Amino acid sequence: MGKGKKKKADEKVEVAELADEMVADGVHPLGGFSDALRVEKGFVLEDIDAASTPAFPGDKIAGKAALQSAEEELADLLERLWAESTAGSKRALLLVVQGMDTSGKGGIMRHVVSVNPEGVKATGFKAPTKEELSHDFLWRIEKALPQAGQLGVFDRSQYEDVLVVRVHDLVPEEVWSKRYAQINEFERRVIASGTKIVKVMTHISKDEQKTRLMERLERPDKYYKFNPGDVDERLRWRDYMEAYQAVFDKTSTVGAPWHVVPSDRKWYARLAVQQLLLEALRDMDLQWPKADFDVEAEKKRLAAS
Ligand code: AMP
Ligand code: MG
Repeated sequence: MGKGKKKKADEKVEVAELADEMVADGVHPLGGFSDALRVEKGFVLEDIDAASTPAFPGDKIAGKAALQSAEEELADLLERLWAESTAGSKRALLLVVQGMDTSGKGGIMRHVVSVNPEGVKATGFKAPTKEELSHDFLWRIEKALPQAGQLGVFDRSQYEDVLVVRVHDLVPEEVWSKRYAQINEFERRVIASGTKIVKVMTHISKDEQKTRLMERLERPDKYYKFNPGDVDERLRWRDYMEAYQAVFDKTSTVGAPWHVVPSDRKWYARLAVQQLLLEALRDMDLQWPKADFDVEAEKKRLAAS
């Protein structure tokens, strides 16, 4: 085993042991992530330190252990959400993840929301196809919404239509400038139909992005993640930050506020998004559906069968 691999394996053991201890000691739940990360009036993206770890005082090992030790609760709550829908509930949860290239969106998909594949509907949004372009920008978003009982996850979203589209003038300003209000209206409808929305920006620093892109160029097993266009986007960093600031100013609503997750530390970003989901699900007060049959009578019937 190489040195790097050995270190990783040792870390894994350490994390697993600590996670077991946390579960045994009942260290969970953590809390306060939503309060610490929510975008409120007056929020300034530039003031956020992308390497900080709000609401979590521990280090990387503790953070990874906390993530592991909370997986069971997340799976349990998602199962309750699903169970509720089988009894007619219309409720669902939608996680929207936006962020610059390499900010860890894919890692969140792999490490946070893979706990319950049946109840999860994940969608990655790329540059729109010809067909998608022939419809309103919200057409493809609407189709990807979670069904009752599901957790929907968006890797990029309706917000690309006021981010990349704004930065590159892909449509005239009078078109994209109306989209903030259209998005707010759309989200109000989604919420009214029973879907809770959690919006997250994974926020990395420009320096950290350079390191991560360079890593992709230094490792043949990472070339596939690199796109020469990523460097061009990087050159527009300031424009993107301005476009994100506008998104926060215009679309962080009471019903669907944004959360900015400092993401220079991957372990923190994953933990924070998991905790935001947990806090949202706990708020929903999910109950196992009552039996719609006579349990005792069924027990008797089964025993005699
Ligand atoms: P990735 O997430 O790295 O696979 O890249 C997906 C690409 O699709 C990014 O460069 C996005 O900016 C681009 N993209 C996503 N949605 C849109 C959109 N509505 N209009 C234009 N480009 C988009
Ligand atoms: Mg990419």
